[in-house]
Amino acid sequence: MTQMNKARAGIITPEMKTVAEKERVDVSWLARQVSEGKIVIPANARHRGLVPCGIGEGLLIKVNANIGTSSDHAVLDEELEKLRVSVAAGADTVMDLSTGGDISATLKAIMAHATVPVGTVPIYQAVVETVDQEGGLIHLTPEKIFEVIERQAEEGVDFMTVHCGLTRPALDMLKTEGRITNIVSRGGAFLTTWMLHHDRENPLYENYDRLLSMARRYDVTLSLGDGLRPGCLADATDRAQIHELMTLGHLTQLAWEQDVQVMIEGPGHVPLNEIETNMILQKKLCHGAPFYVLGPLVTDVAAGYDHVGCAIGGALAGLAGADFLCYVTPAEHLSLPGVADVREGVIVTKIAAHAADIAKGNPIAVERDRKMAVARENLDWDTQIKQAIDSEKATRYREQNPPSEEDVCTMCGKYCAIKQVREYFKDS
Ligand code: SF4
Repeated sequence: MTQMNKARAGIITPEMKTVAEKERVDVSWLARQVSEGKIVIPANARHRGLVPCGIGEGLLIKVNANIGTSSDHAVLDEELEKLRVSVAAGADTVMDLSTGGDISATLKAIMAHATVPVGTVPIYQAVVETVDQEGGLIHLTPEKIFEVIERQAEEGVDFMTVHCGLTRPALDMLKTEGRITNIVSRGGAFLTTWMLHHDRENPLYENYDRLLSMARRYDVTLSLGDGLRPGCLADATDRAQIHELMTLGHLTQLAWEQDVQVMIEGPGHVPLNEIETNMILQKKLCHGAPFYVLGPLVTDVAAGYDHVGCAIGGALAGLAGADFLCYVTPAEHLSLPGVADVREGVIVTKIAAHAADIAKGNPIAVERDRKMAVARENLDWDTQIKQAIDSEKATRYREQNPPSEEDVCTMCGKYCAIKQVREYFKDS
């Protein structure tokens, strides 16, 4: 039974209790949201040691970190270190996007060490194995895709990106759009190549019932991918993107009929002034299913700083309704991120999520900033460090340039504004 299935049957699961406690929400309310598909709890029963988290309306915005090998760089220990650093920095989930080295061994190791929900994009492994064994992507078969999905589900994967909405009509629309960057999704590109070569429909769309039955058996949350997400601002919010989104809305309803938990993936590269529109469209067209955005990046020219562009877009998206932010690292568009890039990506995306949570009035988020404000007024440095999203960096700054008077900092030194006014207020 899936979490949705149990919620609909009136069963409060241990996972629901954990999420409700962490989020400080009523568990009956949470179960109702799960039953209606507004919240998902990605929790494959085979994922040992999982501490579940909830994603969706009324909860804190969650942050995902993408880790995993590439064909050019595949070192298992590095990926495990990225996992450790991501979770330590506050990532709520990780996705193993490995396409290099021993993909099965990498996933197994990540599953064994991850206490957060783990996601994958199974078409990656299906394509890599097909290319290795058969010599080319065109030899990929629907059977192979489903075999990999089942293998990863058995391994305990909690959520999977599946690009089911990338259909032939959507591709036809893409061709007439005259995009600059056509397709930038790896999974979308794999499927498109296969579909056009074989003149066939998307096997994940054609065999959606089979996918739902697997997802239901393992309670894998489907993250319905956006293979046609815009890869540059000029391509944002076009007909191809919205066509795919409309299909995902239909597929969401079909999944809910089978008690399968669903999230929807969204753009991509989006100008600031179009972000709110994108969030409203998704929530309307996909019936309130949780929205998982990849960025969005608000400029195309921030190479080396794309994590900043992502945080700006992520904060606005979160305020406008996005429930789940996929991080971007400083290495985006340039290389496979290293451990330090992963950490920085998580931190800036946490800041974006937190800023949106505050603006939406989430009491946990608001309380944290209040504690920080009180600590600042009290010149209570221990609490300030503890409340900081990046306590490590805050400690480093404090220690590398210590003040002559212990209770202030070197910014104003003996002219510390807080200290002066506080003493004046005390005496007056
Ligand atoms: S020295 Fe200046 S910056 Fe530092 S705590 Fe005091 S007022 Fe703030």
